[in-house]
Amino acid sequence: MSGGVLRLTGLTRVHGKGSAPALADFSLEVPAGACMAILGPSGSGKSTVLRLTAGLDEPTAGSVHLDGADLAGVLPERRGMAMVFQRPLLFPHLSVRDNVAFADRVRGVPRRTARRRAEEFLGLVQLDGFGDRPARALSGGQEQRVALARALAAEPRVLLLDEPFSALDARLREEMHELLADLRMRLDPTILLVTHDHAEAGALADGVAVLDRGRLLQAGPMRELYARPASLAVSRLLGGRTEVAGVVRDGRHESPLGSLDLPTPVPDGPAVLVVRHEAVQVTTAADPATDAVGTVVRARRRGMRTLVTVEVPGDGGTAAVDAELEPGQEVPTGRTVGLRLPVEGRWAVPVDGVAGEPVAGAPRA
Ligand code: ADP
Ligand code: MG
Repeated sequence: MSGGVLRLTGLTRVHGKGSAPALADFSLEVPAGACMAILGPSGSGKSTVLRLTAGLDEPTAGSVHLDGADLAGVLPERRGMAMVFQRPLLFPHLSVRDNVAFADRVRGVPRRTARRRAEEFLGLVQLDGFGDRPARALSGGQEQRVALARALAAEPRVLLLDEPFSALDARLREEMHELLADLRMRLDPTILLVTHDHAEAGALADGVAVLDRGRLLQAGPMRELYARPASLAVSRLLGGRTEVAGVVRDGRHESPLGSLDLPTPVPDGPAVLVVRHEAVQVTTAADPATDAVGTVVRARRRGMRTLVTVEVPGDGGTAAVDAELEPGQEVPTGRTVGLRLPVEGRWAVPVDGVAGEPVAGAPRA
């Protein structure tokens, strides 16, 4: 099994006259064997992308190409794709083995061969020995493994995953992430993974396409979108927390945080500085390498780490900067601290790019 090149061009889906498109002019190329995440809030059109790709729904406009072939009019079962949904949708009365063998049986593969192949794929998802059990006797995580084995047994060139892990608890979800990474190394299918969780996209995907209200906001390598979001909407959907209104002049961002260098030139004008909390270092007020000095106003635990909000007084107002402390680092509320904001961790988003997303204190353009 090896993945194909998937090319989606101008995909549009309008459900009813006068209604806003579920998806508008969506284009994306996924290289063979790559995993691309589709990230967006509920209702943004993520499942629509998968349904149109799989041929379960027809586009109002646009096309789907696999390895250069236009799939218009090609039935879902002939597209070389398989889909896994949030719910596993197993046949409860069938054995685990026969659930996995189902597609082969429908294709006319003899029962014995189909069952042998099913066992192979059950092995791949680490469910050796589960073949005889009825599907209804499985736990949620096991059911989802069976659903994955069933999809893989179809030997798809493209694997479509529609929030397949979102109903699982955190530990199981992490196990499934490891399993998927392992399967990618062995089987190399091209993957479109729908998720509303940027951490999941970051853990599994090479690239990400961010959707909002049926529109593609930005697509690219995961790191690039974390570091250089095109808009506040993208920054927020990727979990960005710090937004400091100001203005860019001569390549520097000016705000209550002062005049800060940016990693690459951006156009002059009103702009919001975004800084990933993971990139900010909290030091002492006396640290000579500090970019700003402020007061810790909030601290909350997130697993091993603590996230603090630091208020920095400056010209024309106060800036709030979030920072993730090092494991074991403790800084009490009320303490005056220094902040290092590494140049590579800074980015300025134009205010114009955020229609309908007011920023507190943003200067008017
Ligand atoms: P997501 O998967 O991101 O939650 P969907 O792709 O399921 O979003 O839906 C995108 C938009 O299209 C939503 O506003 C949804 O209500 C609408 N939609 C989806 N399917 C239909 C349908 N069959 N009829 C009418 N509207 C639909
Ligand atoms: Mg959906």
